Amino acid sequence: MSPDVRNDLDAIPAYVPGATVPGATKLASNETTTGPLPSVAVAIGEAASGANRYPDITARALVERLADFLGVAPENVTTGCGSVALCQQLVQAVCAPGDEVIFGWRSFEAYPIITRIAHAVPVQVPNSADGSLDLDAIAAAVTDRTRLIFVCTPNNPTGPAVSRAELGAFLDRIPDRVTVALDEAYYEYMRSEDPVDGVVEAMSRTNVVSLRTFSKAYGLAGLRVGYLVGPAELVTSVAKMMVPFSVSSLAQAAGIACLEAGDELRVRTDAVVAERGRVRDALLGMGFTVPDSQANFVWLPLGDRSAAFDEHCGERLVIVRCFAGHGVRVSIGDPDENDRFLASAKEFVTGM
Ligand SMILES: *Cc1c(COP(=O)(O)O)cnc(C)c1O
Repeated sequence: MSPDVRNDLDAIPAYVPGATVPGATKLASNETTTGPLPSVAVAIGEAASGANRYPDITARALVERLADFLGVAPENVTTGCGSVALCQQLVQAVCAPGDEVIFGWRSFEAYPIITRIAHAVPVQVPNSADGSLDLDAIAAAVTDRTRLIFVCTPNNPTGPAVSRAELGAFLDRIPDRVTVALDEAYYEYMRSEDPVDGVVEAMSRTNVVSLRTFSKAYGLAGLRVGYLVGPAELVTSVAKMMVPFSVSSLAQAAGIACLEAGDELRVRTDAVVAERGRVRDALLGMGFTVPDSQANFVWLPLGDRSAAFDEHCGERLVIVRCFAGHGVRVSIGDPDENDRFLASAKEFVTGM
């Protein structure tokens, strides 16, 4: 007989990563197509020679550099093994068993998983028809048991971002005892009017935190480092939940180098933003419905046709991310990769 384990493990969904198929075009995980910025690659190489030593457990140098970069105090920043780890630490820090965590749906697929892991209860609020978060419905879903709300902006996988005015009105409706986490994994790709700066929001409220990452625009998905900015007491609570040494010395060095790379990042994100517009326009021209995206992917709300579209693209060696019955998310790659995807999409609509 095997040892006793939690009796709710079957209720915890598995995280489904984007598939990697040798030789195929991978547009399934919102990665950058190029490696780290050259200056960052050098810093990683240098850090590798010290890998026999444990990393700084508090990532002090990175935290101080981030604080300086963001214009906040070091007490307002903590780092984690990717921002997904910080999402999990946050749930663990604020929720007791049975407490509720609210988020839009669809949204980041890790939310229900990390909520269940912490013995808390996920409350999923359907998005509006245009793929944007329904902030009114989220505010209306708050109960006495609510401890945390994830606002993913831009929203993964649907794309739209919340405006600053909308967010302000929403936050005014949320009781101070409830923490609101602004998940800004795609912050660097936003080019919207009246954009939210989660760090500014986090510094002007007592119950708001911002989560950002080096995985997406900075191209360090394989190194695992993200950060959380918020009121000092919340930051301390979240940091307590960290698995010791979970931000490696390579990740710390790479994060610091990223912040020193300056304009190099903007050039890269501008290129992705231009391609995002081109891909979306082409899809709209083919008759697809495509919500406005402020991230490095587009969303096709294909409903029942999602699996067929996914299969169709896969047969043409273009790997997209299917959420069966809901839609398909397609990352923005290089122009030639995007062309391969658009050719597949075109064949799908013309039934070839
Ligand atoms: C990718 C992603 C993250 C986290 O990425 P990490 O690699 O763990 O930093 C967090 N939130 C959303 C919405 C994401 O899409």
